[in-house]
Amino acid sequence: MHGTPILTETDRLMTVCNSCRYCEGLCAVFPAMEMRRAFSDGDLNYLANLCHGCGACYTDCQFSPPHEFNVNVPQTLAIARAESYAAYAWPRALAGAFSRNGLVISVIAALSVAAFIFGFAAANDRSVLFGVHTGPGAFYQLMPHGAMAGLFSAAFLYAILALVMGVRAFWRDIGEPVGMKTNAKSLLQAIRDAGELRYLDGGGVGCFNEGDQPTDRRKIFHHLTFYGFILCFAATCVGTFYHYLLSYEAPYPWWDLPVVLGTLGGIGLVIGPIGLLVAKSQRDRVLVDEARTGMDTAFTVMLLLTGMTGLVLLVLRETAAMGPLLALHLGFVFALFITLPYGKFVHGIYRFVSLLRYARERQMMAGE
Ligand code: SF4
Ligand code: SF4
Repeated sequence: MHGTPILTETDRLMTVCNSCRYCEGLCAVFPAMEMRRAFSDGDLNYLANLCHGCGACYTDCQFSPPHEFNVNVPQTLAIARAESYAAYAWPRALAGAFSRNGLVISVIAALSVAAFIFGFAAANDRSVLFGVHTGPGAFYQLMPHGAMAGLFSAAFLYAILALVMGVRAFWRDIGEPVGMKTNAKSLLQAIRDAGELRYLDGGGVGCFNEGDQPTDRRKIFHHLTFYGFILCFAATCVGTFYHYLLSYEAPYPWWDLPVVLGTLGGIGLVIGPIGLLVAKSQRDRVLVDEARTGMDTAFTVMLLLTGMTGLVLLVLRETAAMGPLLALHLGFVFALFITLPYGKFVHGIYRFVSLLRYARERQMMAGE
């Protein structure tokens, strides 16, 4: 007996696949499955999060519909994966945010943007809000640095706490192998596998799309999005270092490190999400979790809006549009931060943890 109908269905499919084993070279899911004879709820959530949704095992399967075995591993694991995010959410009371994710993120984004615009308007007169501000400290004429840093630090720390608590519950449920904490080799392997998106390639040919022609498009756009996010985060860290340790205030010149990192990251956060949204619209519907496309789309659109508003702010920061654009950008960043633990962002964290466990399992099997 399993906790949910989708886990029961996942168990049925993994039992069929464990007898068949035709797909064992496609990705990490099948070798991890073969290490088990029976599946707990935690095992099934682990396998679901190990799956990258490339679609290869559906296309290759001789038991996929209309066969009576009705084997659809990508779609079943996609649904199980999405349900696992809610199952491990912290605090539990907010787990429902996953099922209405598109709506929740839209409302929070709209409220955050409105709060920053009205906050700026209330705290400053029109000449400040629509004035031209240049040079170090220009942004802080609209919002004091202490208030900005305090607000975003609180949102970020809350997101980290909620993510850590969720991952802790997941980690315990999937069964931490002995010695995992001190195993640097499995950590390096998982970082490499996640960094390369090793299993998003359908066993080497690429992802399967509506045209039945596998391509690397999803992998490329996923890389642009991920590394764009990392570069933007790095830009913020360097800016924080400049501010507190060098007493050097934003905005910085275009050639300075935070701006270079932020610009490259912003470009990644525009091109990557657009590509992912287009690729999503072209995917074969039989492979995806139709009921939760809102969650994917909401997160991708939030990244896109964050990247776009950041780039437009950079270009127009020495004009009278700087005030409203800063409010718009900060509103989207704030909404992104506080919704991180309750949306598609968590897939990266749970997938990394699953890759870490898989790397360790492989080592243990090899007697290392
Ligand atoms: S997906 Fe189909 S072909 Fe692949 S292992 Fe499972 S049953 Fe076999
Ligand atoms: S969809 Fe791709 S990653 Fe997922 S189980 Fe099938 S082959 Fe593996």
